[in-house]
This record gives sequence, structure tokens and C-alpha cells, in this order.
Amino acid sequence: MPVPVVRPREVVIAEEQDYLFHSEADDLQAPEWSDAACRDAEPDVFFPLSAHDIASRREALSWCAVCAIAVQCREIALRDSSIVGIWGGTDEVERARLRGRRLVSVA
Ligand code: SF4
Repeated sequence: MPVPVVRPREVVIAEEQDYLFHSEADDLQAPEWSDAACRDAEPDVFFPLSAHDIASRREALSWCAVCAIAVQCREIALRDSSIVGIWGGTDEVERARLRGRRLVSVA
């Protein structure tokens, strides 16, 4: 398991801006799932049973933080609200918030 990464707030904000403003359908390229950092990880950690399952959440986010296909992975989950679990370093609640902000930004 990689060492958990704490990203500076400026980096998180910059990434969020990137998701929000580079989201046209043509931008999405099929990820090379063989490059996924989590390919050998325990799948259950990506589906924490609750917001209080901090250990699983932390482990999942540490994989996503070093994943080469995190942007595509997150984008796939952003485009399908039926997807649950941690994808591209986000959970359902965070993706719902990002979807809402996208709607506001294109209105
Ligand atoms: S971003 Fe996270 S969930 Fe998606 S493939 Fe990479 S490690 Fe797995």
C-alpha cells in the first residue's frame, strides 16, 4: 500500500478547476485499466461502508493519488451518477457536488 498522500489545498483546487472546465465529451479517452494503481489493491477499500470508514477511505485515496489514469477514472464516474465507491479520488458525495458545479458553470 502506498504511503497516504496529503495534497496541498491549492493542488486540490487546481485539480477541481481542471475537472470543471475540461469536461467536454470529446475529452474523455478510454483509460488503460492495466495502468490502474489499484489493480492489485483490495477492492473493498474502494467501497467504504460509511463515511466513518476512514481507514478504507484513506487507503483508497492513497492509491488514487498515485494513479496514472485518475483523471479518466474520475471522469467516467462523474458522467454516471449510478456509479458508487471511490473513483479517481472522489466518492459519490464529492462527485455529486462536482456535477452540480459543472451545471452551474455551463448555465
Ligand atoms: S483512480 Fe483510483 S479507483 Fe481509479 S483506477 Fe486509479 S487507483 Fe483505481
